[in-house]
Amino acid sequence: MDQFSLITIFVALFGISFGSFLNVLIYRVPNKIDISNPPSTCPKCNNRLKWYHNIPILSWLILGGKCGFCKSKISAIYPTIELINGLIWVSLYFKLGLVWYLPFVALSFSMLLALTMIDFKYYAVPDSINIAALIFALIAPSFTDNLLNAIYSGVGFYLLGFTVSKLAKKDALGEADIIVAATMAALLGYPAFFIAMFLSAILAMLPSIFAKDTMVPFVPFLALATYITYLNKEFLINLLEVLMYG
Ligand SMILES: [Zn+2]
Repeated sequence: MDQFSLITIFVALFGISFGSFLNVLIYRVPNKIDISNPPSTCPKCNNRLKWYHNIPILSWLILGGKCGFCKSKISAIYPTIELINGLIWVSLYFKLGLVWYLPFVALSFSMLLALTMIDFKYYAVPDSINIAALIFALIAPSFTDNLLNAIYSGVGFYLLGFTVSKLAKKDALGEADIIVAATMAALLGYPAFFIAMFLSAILAMLPSIFAKDTMVPFVPFLALATYITYLNKEFLINLLEVLMYG
């Protein structure tokens, strides 16, 4: 097997394993449970999981989506998150190659994935995960640029939210959105940041039309748009230039 395939497999396995940890974060952080202690238990029968119940994706498949003790159903969300995180890490490896900051970019996107799931499930955006996403996004050779980009967009978003809330007399942008915007700017730079913002607005429109009265969380669309823009940055910037200048 050549080196490229070997590294791909390693990155996929690391990504899938880290996806297991994301499941822990997604369940425990919004419920204010310590993330290291107690160890994983079945939410139904409270039995402590054995190591072979806890192998990402495989255990769920082998146990047929059921708890190894009480046979109660375990949501397919868990192996799906593990798989998605594996795919995200591999796609980032394909994009960046084996650079030293690959793990930090990957961790930043993993934190955005956790925020996405928590926002969908609990309509909450925990600061701890949000700030972790931002810190991981800053760690790169272009640290100073990333930091400045994060500050510009954070301040810009704060002022925008302040203005809109004064004009519309209701809260427009929360503190959580400002931190996500800063993470996006650190990862993407300009003008890709604006492309991602535009894209997220388009993506968010679709479910807003169907879910008329129910609240639609916004962070998932920001995260998805950031991921799409990150992987297709050059293409999207070229497209923008063609659209603007012909
Ligand atoms: Zn059980």
